[in-house]
Amino acid sequence: MKKLILEKNDKCGAKLLLSGGERCNVSNNDINPDRDYVGQNIKSLHSVFHAFSNQDMIDFLTQHGIETVVEDNGRVILKSWKAKQLLDLLMKLAIENGVEIKNSVEIKEIASLCSQWPDEWNETFKITTNSWEFFCKKLIIATWGKSFPQVGATWFAYELAKQFGIDCIQPYQCLCGIETVQDMSGVTWNSALVQMQIRNDKKKCLYDQKGSVLFTHRWISGPVVFNSTLRLWNDSWIVSTNNKIKIIFDMENLNKKLINFFHLDAKNSVVELDMKWLRPWEEAKVSGGGVILSELKSNFESKKIPGLYFIGEACDVVGKTWWYNLQWARSSANVCSRRFE
Ligand SMILES: Cc1cc2nc3c(=O)[nH]c(=O)nc-3n(C[C@H](O)[C@H](O)[C@H](O)COP(=O)(O)OP(=O)(O)OC[C@H]3O[C@@H](n4cnc5c(N)ncnc54)[C@H](O)[C@@H]3O)c2cc1C
Repeated sequence: MKKLILEKNDKCGAKLLLSGGERCNVSNNDINPDRDYVGQNIKSLHSVFHAFSNQDMIDFLTQHGIETVVEDNGRVILKSWKAKQLLDLLMKLAIENGVEIKNSVEIKEIASLCSQWPDEWNETFKITTNSWEFFCKKLIIATWGKSFPQVGATWFAYELAKQFGIDCIQPYQCLCGIETVQDMSGVTWNSALVQMQIRNDKKKCLYDQKGSVLFTHRWISGPVVFNSTLRLWNDSWIVSTNNKIKIIFDMENLNKKLINFFHLDAKNSVVELDMKWLRPWEEAKVSGGGVILSELKSNFESKKIPGLYFIGEACDVVGKTWWYNLQWARSSANVCSRRFE
């Protein structure tokens, strides 16, 4: 089989190189799909992670001379702190396995040829790009989601799936800060350990977690805030300006600036903020939404369009913090390639 990667950027792996602030959080040493991922039909992730687990990821790296270390919250990072080390390995293996890579080739359109051409042509898809046309029998869409448009991310996978009548969830920004109505300029860049709760206008609790929150002049960020963006969309499908964010401060070891700004004391350690919106796509580390897993077979082939596959961020799967997302991209890619028919 001839294998070809079409990549619209002049190099592959733009997001991989950005991952973990270039330190590359590749995985976590404790993964439970029901707890750590959001999307429709998350149950089916069990078999994917069974086939290629977090340990398989670590073993794969070790076998190829890349050492990993486990840091806080079980996250697994490259010992070298260099995401490029992983990218170089993937590129080397692709080339060794006879994959041809064409950079600066952007796919503009994909047409299914099944109904048009006689069988002896033996090709299923016609791919129109900014340069040549390509024909292929099998096509894997691994074109990420919409987050970080500054490195070229678009809605391509979503638009393509819609074109072929494949059910998908409209992409939504995940793992980003939340804008507030309140101006907190007085405590910009101060962080604190808090309990954060989000309630909708009917007082239903959408999210309740402890963790670190960073205050900036008109938004809040930090892991506990990033994680909340997943739960928000999953529970109500819409970020509402009526949502209230309750911040319960841990008064021990609390920064004086925050105490004075929010008028906190032992009897009053709670602040309520009004949600305005999420920070923009340019700051969202990952996209939620994409092709619904129930549209795909266990090898990630579309049930409706034979020969068309979707993996990685193009699927409606998002990890609750960023280190779960490279693991998902790798696990889905591995399972897809192993069960390729
Ligand atoms: C700033 C930042 C930090 C992150 N940190 C982490 C982290 O530490 N740990 C973690 O697990 N995750 C992290 N993520 C998320 C993770 O990088 C992504 O979820 C993952 O890279 C998605 O992999 P993928 O295989 O779906 O797509 P990728 O392989 O990353 O990218 C898809 C490729 O398709 C190409 N493409 C898109 N459209 C077209 C087209 N029309 N024609 C041709 N080519 C096209 C793109 O140029 C791109 O190179 C981070 C993301 C960002 C933005």
